[in-house]
Amino acid sequence: MRPFVYSTPLQMPSFARPRLIAALCLLTVAACGEAPRAELAAEEPAETSVTDSVRLDAANGDRVGTETMESVPVSASGPVTTLPPNEYGRIPIVEYHLVVDEDGSYAVSRERFRAELDTLYARGYRPIGLGELLDKRIDLPAGTSPVHFVFDDASPSQFRYLEQGGQLVVDPTSALGIWLDFAKGKPEWRHRGSFCLLSGAEAGRSFFGNKGIEGQESAWRFRKLAHLDSLGFELCNHTLWHARLDKYDDAFVQEQIARGELAIDSAMPGYRVRGFALPLGMWPKNKPLAWGGAWTDPKSQRTVRYAYDAVFEVAGGPARSPHDPQFNPRSLPRIPLGRGMPLYPTLRTLEKEGAGGRYVSDGNPNTVAGQAP
Ligand SMILES: [Zn+2]
Repeated sequence: MRPFVYSTPLQMPSFARPRLIAALCLLTVAACGEAPRAELAAEEPAETSVTDSVRLDAANGDRVGTETMESVPVSASGPVTTLPPNEYGRIPIVEYHLVVDEDGSYAVSRERFRAELDTLYARGYRPIGLGELLDKRIDLPAGTSPVHFVFDDASPSQFRYLEQGGQLVVDPTSALGIWLDFAKGKPEWRHRGSFCLLSGAEAGRSFFGNKGIEGQESAWRFRKLAHLDSLGFELCNHTLWHARLDKYDDAFVQEQIARGELAIDSAMPGYRVRGFALPLGMWPKNKPLAWGGAWTDPKSQRTVRYAYDAVFEVAGGPARSPHDPQFNPRSLPRIPLGRGMPLYPTLRTLEKEGAGGRYVSDGNPNTVAGQAP
């Protein structure tokens, strides 16, 4: 099987990835490095002009012009594609890290994030949950396509609270705030996606901020997880503090993953975590430990076990349909977005029929439309 089109610098064969990622991460230790310690760049909630009219991809200057918009038919459930139903087609899993003032390595600007939501919606994409993907429960209107959103590293830029009149409100300039505003009046744009969490990293990467970093109180952390869950988003593990799992022994690997799991359980007792994102996309030497393992807390003697249905890679292009016999949820490719890592070229490669083209729903969850690969 030919590898999928490598349309961004990170979508290259796995043997070439670690060096490139390491090079990128030298530039952005705070965003994706191990045990982030670098101070965050000052990130004052800036005035943003996020409006429905923003259609500029800050990364590549690509516009979704009037022509494209007019060619997208609009039904009761919003815009749809004219491609035929194809439920064996590919599904983009888009990967966001920081959502801040400007694009950077592992960062997108707020305007760009909003524009990418706009573009996906206009092209007929609709958010689905990880569980829906894994369990083949993709129930979308005919002519629309699934997209799974993943937010890595649990930075305040993704989910900040503001105190207003004694209440905590979602900062409209955080990714969640932008999302909630975008989704207003669009019931078909459901709150679905995975937040892959760090619970004990520095620089505020501890359940979206602690110790006053970016104004975030440590006491708000568990509440944020419950808030995401109540909206419909899913919680995903991303280890305790982002250790490069390829560098450590089996016991350490399991401790990093299990303590991330334990922290989520502390916030949301009994929550079933189905997804795990590999820090920097690096597998442990003992690969199966990414899928399941156990660690015993030496203090409490409590054993924490973990078992994941899905493991997210850091790159690799659009994912196969769960109906494709080669669908492998234990190694799910993603589309990382940041400076030099645009979304639109990947979407363009999907505008075709067949197993390499985009998944297009037939509107009937009980049938699988299209040609099996
Ligand atoms: Zn990460």
